[in-house]
Amino acid sequence: MEPLILDGKTLSKVIRKEVKQTISELPYEPTLAVVMVGEDPASAVYVRGKERDCKRVGIRSLKHTLPETATQKEVQSLLLDLNKNPEVDGILLQLPLPKHLDETALVRTISPEKDVDGFLPVNQGLVVLNEESALTPCTPAGIMELLKRHNITIAGREAVVIGRSMTVGKPIAMLLLNAHATCTVCHSKTASLQSHVARADLLVVAAGRRGVIDESWIKEGAVVVDVGIHRLEDGSLGGDLHFEAAAKRAAAITPVPGGVGPMTRTCLLLNTLKAARRRRTV
Ligand code: NAP
Repeated sequence: MEPLILDGKTLSKVIRKEVKQTISELPYEPTLAVVMVGEDPASAVYVRGKERDCKRVGIRSLKHTLPETATQKEVQSLLLDLNKNPEVDGILLQLPLPKHLDETALVRTISPEKDVDGFLPVNQGLVVLNEESALTPCTPAGIMELLKRHNITIAGREAVVIGRSMTVGKPIAMLLLNAHATCTVCHSKTASLQSHVARADLLVVAAGRRGVIDESWIKEGAVVVDVGIHRLEDGSLGGDLHFEAAAKRAAAITPVPGGVGPMTRTCLLLNTLKAARRRRTV
């Protein structure tokens, strides 16, 4: 049987419409400050995409571009100003930063209530505590929304996450646990990845490596979420998995592109709206 396609592109359109409607009823314009240091072409493309997304739903975006040579102090001082600025609801520091800058220290300069990427320890901690007030990292938040809106059962199921980064693997494992899955997190030192993959009712692959598992290991009827994104030799995009092979075994699966990616971008809008409403109490 053909698997259900967990179509993040279509769902994103629906959610963005909802966000736009909500914002149109607010007495203010939620505002996202986007900070870019240097002119990395890939980052510039991402930033332009985020600005476009914001504009379409009625979020004002304020772009601040600092030169490649900006010092730690200069970037920090801009972030501190944005923390204090009452007009700014969310701050996005576009990563990666030039190598001479201390990324962790700069990310941690951002106020937790404006941390719309959800990277700060406070927000990660609130995710662990299962507190509604968390600004959840956008990719895991997007995956949960994708599963919930497709009525995928999570409670009681065996979930296996491949990858333990602070932006994807660890928080998605925590969110799945909070949603009552029994969760295993695998990484590069996991012995017998196959045995874990084979018992997963819900498999999230975020290893950043194509071909990290053999698709024949996937349990028949599993729900499969592929977070990885890679430029393939023919110029097209693909995930950590070979889609056709994984789709043969899955009951539901995310495509790449058009699965987790658009949901990640949409969750940045949701987080900005959430941060704005909380700060402005409307
Ligand atoms: P990351 O920080 O590089 O983490 C990769 C994780 O995978 C690490 O925990 C690593 O284990 C684990 N891993 C690597 N090789 C493995 C193997 N052979 N077996 C088992 N585990 C293995 O990457 P990330 O930031 O989490 O991103 C993961 C992927 O998702 C990347 O392709 C990235 O481009 C993509 N991504 C997509 C979106 C989107 O919106 N679609 C958003 C974010 C990320 P160790 O900890 O032991 O090294």
